Amino acid sequence: MSAHNMEEMTPAELTAVIRRRPVFILTTGILEWHGDHLPLGLDALKMRGIAERLAERTEAILLPQNWFGVVGYDEMTGTITFSKDLVKRIASEFFENLEKMGARLIVFLTGHYGPYQVETITEAAQEYMARSSIRIIAQPEYEGVDWSQCEASPDHADKYETSLAMALFPHLVRMEHFRQEIEIPYEYAYRDNPWGFRSPQGTWRYSCDLREEASAELGEQIIGLIVDHLSMRIDDELARCR
Ligand SMILES: [Zn+2]
Repeated sequence: MSAHNMEEMTPAELTAVIRRRPVFILTTGILEWHGDHLPLGLDALKMRGIAERLAERTEAILLPQNWFGVVGYDEMTGTITFSKDLVKRIASEFFENLEKMGARLIVFLTGHYGPYQVETITEAAQEYMARSSIRIIAQPEYEGVDWSQCEASPDHADKYETSLAMALFPHLVRMEHFRQEIEIPYEYAYRDNPWGFRSPQGTWRYSCDLREEASAELGEQIIGLIVDHLSMRIDDELARCR
C-alpha cells in the first residue's frame, strides 16, 4: 500500500494532499501480445510500477490504472484496443473530474506506444488545455529521457521492456519460454482503424538473447532515468501553474 494511491485515501486525506500539491498521475496501457515470455498486460503493469515510484518521489496522487488505448498488434494473441474517439473521451472526462477536485497539473502517462496512441493522448490533452487553465503532461514514459548512455532504449517486448518487467514484476516473466526468433501469432482478422495499421506477419526477431542481455539491474537503471526526468518536468510545470 502506498500513501499516494487515490483509491486508498479518505476524503480528508485527498483534500489535504490536493491543497499541498495539486498534481495527479494517470496511467494507461493495453492488453497486447508481448512475446512468449512476457504478460499481456505488460504496458499497463510497467507504467503503473514506474508511476508508483514517481508518485512517491513527487508526492503526486496516483489514480488506478486504466486499460484503454488505441490500435496495437490487434491481429495477435490477447490484444484488446479501443477506438480513438472513445480513448480521447475517457481521457477528457478524467481531466474534467480531476479539475473539479482542484488539480493544477495532470501527468498522463502511456506505457503503450506507437504514433497512433501518442497522437490520441496528445490531442486529448491539447484540446482540453485549450479550454481550461490546468496543465497536462501527456506522453509515453520514455519521452524526453536521454537514452544515449543507457544499454537499452524503448522497444516492444525486447531488451528495454523485458528488463523493466524483471525489475518490476519478476514473478510474471517466463524466460524459459524465450526464443530469439519466433513465428508471429497472427490469429485474428484485421480490425479497422483510422490509420490502416496492420500487425506484422512472419518471423519476430529479438535484438539479442534476452536471457543474457536483459536484467533487473538494467530495468532499475531505466526506471531511475525516467523518474528523474519526469520529476523535473513536474517541478517545471508546477512552477508555471502558480
Ligand atoms: Zn509494450
